[in-house]
Amino acid sequence: MSSHGSIDSLEDYDLWLGMLWVALQQSLPGFIPKFQAQIANTLEEKRSQHLGDEYINQIEKNLIYGCEGTHQICEAIARFLVLGEPRLGPEVEILAYVESWRFKALPVVGRHLAFLRSGCSGCQVHPNHSRYQNLRKLRLSASFDRYFDEIEFCYKFYQGTSILAGLTAASILRTQDFSALASTLAVEDVLHRTWLLVCARSSAWWQLGIGDVLIPEGEASAGG
Ligand SMILES: [Zn+2]
Repeated sequence: MSSHGSIDSLEDYDLWLGMLWVALQQSLPGFIPKFQAQIANTLEEKRSQHLGDEYINQIEKNLIYGCEGTHQICEAIARFLVLGEPRLGPEVEILAYVESWRFKALPVVGRHLAFLRSGCSGCQVHPNHSRYQNLRKLRLSASFDRYFDEIEFCYKFYQGTSILAGLTAASILRTQDFSALASTLAVEDVLHRTWLLVCARSSAWWQLGIGDVLIPEGEASAGG
């Protein structure tokens, strides 16, 4: 990290975010085991509420929302660190801002769900279907049991990334000194790196392991 404390490269950013997470973890004693248990239990709840196809429908929809919501929050983080926007006041405003980015994922869930089920020949989020490409292949080719296992894993995985991304965003946005800290970097680059690091860290925090299907090779190991 450079002497004036700015983030001048993605390698700097890896280190910086790593330190932020250590501090965040220390500031939340008991939080990680609590959410580990909650993420593990979340499927039980869904299973008891929905049957058969409706259960699968719920899991598919929710895993997409978790994944897209995580991406949105990573974008909010990147915009704050690179562009310095927005300037926020009280805690309640910060939390509402983070949630407003998560909600941006809602309108695209249907598009990705349609792709997962029947493919798609073109839509406004078309390039992002690549996130679900492997799941779609699995849905078409593998045994039902294998697909079922994978979507249950993905559901838990993206619950984890979504929680971690939200906590991370709130923690960063709370510190006005972090505004435009990475102003020499590109929003897209910081966004992508944040996503990779959140996936890796989330896996470690919540002890979820890494899916062999969903997280592309190389990405999962970013940041350790
Ligand atoms: Zn499409």
